[in-house]
Amino acid sequence: MTIPSPHPFHLLVKPVGSKCNLDCHYCYYLRKEERYQPGATMQMSEAMLETYVQQYIAAQPKHITFVDFSWQGGEPALRGLEFYEKAVELQRKYARPGMTVTNTFQSNGTLINERWAQFFKKNNFLIGLSIDGDELNHNNGRPDSKGNESYSRVLRGLELLKKHGVQFNTLTVVHNDNAHLGKQTYQKLKELGSSVIQFQPCVEHPLDQRGEKDWSLTPHQWGHFLCDVFDEWRKEDVGKVYVQFFENTLGILAGQPSQMCFHAETCGQQMMLEHDGSLYSCDHYSYEDHNVGDIDAVDLGAVASSQTQVNFGTNKWRSLPKQCRECHFRPMCNGGCPKERTAMTADLEPGLNHLCMGYKKFFLHSMPYFAAMLEALKQGHPASVYPMFVQRVS
Ligand code: SF4
Ligand code: SF4
Repeated sequence: MTIPSPHPFHLLVKPVGSKCNLDCHYCYYLRKEERYQPGATMQMSEAMLETYVQQYIAAQPKHITFVDFSWQGGEPALRGLEFYEKAVELQRKYARPGMTVTNTFQSNGTLINERWAQFFKKNNFLIGLSIDGDELNHNNGRPDSKGNESYSRVLRGLELLKKHGVQFNTLTVVHNDNAHLGKQTYQKLKELGSSVIQFQPCVEHPLDQRGEKDWSLTPHQWGHFLCDVFDEWRKEDVGKVYVQFFENTLGILAGQPSQMCFHAETCGQQMMLEHDGSLYSCDHYSYEDHNVGDIDAVDLGAVASSQTQVNFGTNKWRSLPKQCRECHFRPMCNGGCPKERTAMTADLEPGLNHLCMGYKKFFLHSMPYFAAMLEALKQGHPASVYPMFVQRVS
């Protein structure tokens, strides 16, 4: 019997591991295939799926009435539609009375056809579509495994999602080839119909890097990109378009906890399950020394609340260098993800975020506007009327 964890946690799953029909140059996950025997099927079995669904629900604290299943890859659609039909059936079987179960599905969109779109709509899946803005930019970073362009297939998938009224958001990787295109990328995403936008900075880690070219952003590029997008967004989209990092910053300034693990003081509530049942502290740390067991052999609730997992999460705070602790922007930034902390501080302490100067540039630039948005909210107005308050606070 699974013992519930005392706190809620999230467990994303990779039903086909790192297997993908695309070959994105900067993908941090494709090299994981090296861990497995050449030719290994890399498919989660239906028996494993049932263990996952049962344990994941049972391991949530008793008072929790909401649980989200996040399907990721690689490309999770490669596991086939029948697998997800089974997953939904199992979710119904194991959900506690009154429990709401949701599904989010991070996909490159190229395999979506009528049947997938109908399934997503019927079962209320939220699709996270990976798309890097316009055609040229997207094809530069995201060719398929044969080196062909993928943009036209992503757009075909997107059109089907729209046709069937499937909810979607977009994820765009920002790297050193597209960082100068902030405004253009943002406008393109809007034109494609995205109103929930996530930008992910590319900071390649030596353990994951695949090619000779380093796609990592410089701090200056990241700062420039964020400012560029922010200035477009604040013109007429505040309250209309949800740009995750901007909304997160505003939320923190308004006294809410960070919704992004990167910018929270601690983390560790986002574990990952591989196709073969192995559990990791986090998707970004799926290395042997962060393997926390096998779902077939452990009690998931106990693993989620274990000292190992607590230490993993609190280490984010403990390892924060002095420069961050004393930084004016620390509450909004919190040093970012520990995996990106590859730089040295001014007094040569290790553990500073590679993108630090970019974050600072953005916070300095945006703060008068965020302050005006907060003032608008405080006075009972929507944040979108912030221009009325800019003069008073800047
Ligand atoms: S290690 Fe990084 S990606 Fe993983 S939970 Fe912590 S902040 Fe998030
Ligand atoms: S802006 Fe730089 S110094 Fe400040 S908390 Fe973030 S990473 Fe640390």
